[in-house]
Amino acid sequence: MDQDTRLRLERILAISYEMISTASLDDILHRIVQVAAELVDCETVGILLLDESANILRFVAATLFKDRLLDIPVPLDVSIAGAAFTSAQPIIANDARRDPRYYPKVDQVLGLSTQSLVAVPLQFRDRKIGVLEAKNKKQGLLFDAADAETLALLAAQTTIAIENARLLDQYARLLQTEQTEHQMADALRQASVALSSTLDYAQVIDRILEQVSQVIPNDTSNVMMIEAGDIARVFRGHGYARFGTAEKLDSITLNIADAAGLRQMRATGKPIVIPDVSQDPTWVHSRPEHAWIKSYVGAPIIIHDQVAGFLNANSATLNAYDQTDAERLQAFAAHAATAIENARLYQQAQQEIAERIKVEEELRQHRDHLEELVKERTAELQRLAITDPLTEVFNRRHLFVLGEQAFQQAQRYRHPLAALMIDLDHFKQINDRYGHAVGDQALKKLAERLVSNLRAVDILGRYGGEEFVVLMPETDGETARQTAERLCASIRAIKVETAHGGISFTASIGIATLHAANDVTIDALIQRADAAMYAAKQAGRNQVCAQRQE
Ligand code: GH3
Ligand code: MG
Ligand code: MG
Repeated sequence: MDQDTRLRLERILAISYEMISTASLDDILHRIVQVAAELVDCETVGILLLDESANILRFVAATLFKDRLLDIPVPLDVSIAGAAFTSAQPIIANDARRDPRYYPKVDQVLGLSTQSLVAVPLQFRDRKIGVLEAKNKKQGLLFDAADAETLALLAAQTTIAIENARLLDQYARLLQTEQTEHQMADALRQASVALSSTLDYAQVIDRILEQVSQVIPNDTSNVMMIEAGDIARVFRGHGYARFGTAEKLDSITLNIADAAGLRQMRATGKPIVIPDVSQDPTWVHSRPEHAWIKSYVGAPIIIHDQVAGFLNANSATLNAYDQTDAERLQAFAAHAATAIENARLYQQAQQEIAERIKVEEELRQHRDHLEELVKERTAELQRLAITDPLTEVFNRRHLFVLGEQAFQQAQRYRHPLAALMIDLDHFKQINDRYGHAVGDQALKKLAERLVSNLRAVDILGRYGGEEFVVLMPETDGETARQTAERLCASIRAIKVETAHGGISFTASIGIATLHAANDVTIDALIQRADAAMYAAKQAGRNQVCAQRQE
C-alpha cells in the first residue's frame, strides 16, 4: 500500500468516525464533499439524491454552495450523473462538455466550465439513492480509476449516513405517531370520563373541546347545534378568550345553506378539512375579530342518523390539518353526540318527572279541596240534623239527646238541674190576625231573645210548635225562677213588625227542678215543667209558675 492510498483510507476512516458521532446529516454530507474534494484534488464535489416524485436528481450538498444550496434539478436521462445513477456504475468523463450526456445547465447556473468529471452512484444494497460527483481535476490532470475508487468508498459512507438518517427520521415519526395515538386514546378516554361524570352537557362539551385541543392543535374550537330553519348556532367554544370574543358565543349563527363546508358535512356525514379558508368562496368569518382563521377542520355530530351539529376547530396557520385530524375530530364528535343524547334523555326524563309531580300535586289539591268540601257539607248536615230550621235552636230530637246527657250528669253527681217550658200566649191569634209569616217572625225573634238571655251551658230546644224548653245545669229553683222572670220580661219587650205596625206578645213559663226520687228520666222533668207552664196559663198567662216540690 503506497503512502497516498494509506492517506486516503485514513481520511475515509475519519469520516466514518464522524458519522457515528451525533452530527446532523447536513453536517455529515458537507464534510463528505469537502474531504472528497481534498482527496481527489478537484475544484468541486457534489452529492445529488433522487427525488422520486419527480424522477430527477437534486443537489443536497456541494462544495461550491457556500451558504445556500441552489436547487438545480438534474435529469436522469441527459446527464453524466444520471448515467452513473442509471447504470449503477462509476463514470469518468475527462472531456465532459463533448460527452453527449453532458447537462450544461449546472455549469451555466454556477458559472463553471466543466472539463473533467467523475460520478459514482450512491446505492444501498439494491436501492439506488443518488450520485456523488467530482468536477475538474486540479493542475489540468485527468480523473483516474483511483479517484473513482476513492469516491466510491466515500459514496458508501454517504449512503450509510443518508440511510441511517432516513431510518432515524422514520423511527422518530413512528414514535411521534405512537405518541399522538397514545394522546388521542388518552384524550378520548378523558372525554368518556367527562361523559359519565356529569349530566350537565354544556360542561361535558367543554371538556370534550379541551381534549380535542390536546390532540388536534387549534386556536379556537367550538360545537355548533343545528336549529330550525337550517341555522347552526354556537353552543360552546374553547380558546376564544385569547381573542376577546368568549362572550356571547351563542349569538354566532351560520346558515348551513350558505356555508359549503357545513352543507357538505351534513350531506355526507363525513368530516372535512379546509386547508385555506381564503380559497373557500363561501367561508364567512363568524365575527370580524376571527379573520385570523386560516385553516379549518370540522366533523358532523350525528345523533340517530341525523346530523344534529358540528364540532369545529380553527387554526391561524395555513394547512394546519390533514385527513388524520379530520378522522380524530370525528371520534370526538361521536362523544359529543353521546353527551348531547344523554343530556336530552335526561332532560326528557326530568320533564316527565316534573310533569308527573305537577299532575300529582294537582290531584292532591283537588282531593284536599274535595275533602274540605265533604267536611263542610258533613258539618252542615250534622248541624242541620240537630237544628230547627226556622229558629236555629236545637230541634226536639237533639234537645232530648243533650237533655239526657245533662240529666245523667246531674243524677250521677247529685247536682242541680232546672227545666223551663216556655209557651207563647194566644199564639193562634197572632197567626190568625197577621198571618203565618208574622207568626214565624215572632218565633224567630223569641228564639234569638232566649239565646241572648241564656248561658252557654244552658240547652235551648224547640219542643213543639210555639213551645221551647230550656235545660239549665247547676241551677237551683231560685236561680231558675229569676232566669224565668227575666225571660218573661224580655219576651214582653219583643217587637215584631207587621203591615199594621209593631206587635208584641207574652209567654207563660213553667219551672221544674230535678228531684231525684220523682225524675227517673229527663222526660219526667220536662213533663213537670210543662205542668207548671199549664198552671201559669191557668193563673192568667204572661207569668212564671214553679212546680211545687213533692
Ligand atoms: P195558649 O197557648 O195561650 O193557650 O193559646 P195558643 O193560641 O198559643 O194555643 P195553642 O197552643 O193551641 O196554639 C198553638 C198555635 O201555634 C197553633 C199554631 O197555629 C201555632 N203554631 C205552631 N207552630 C207554628 C209555626 O211554626 N209557625 C206559626 N206561624 N205558627 C205556629
Ligand atoms: Mg202551645
Ligand atoms: Mg200557646
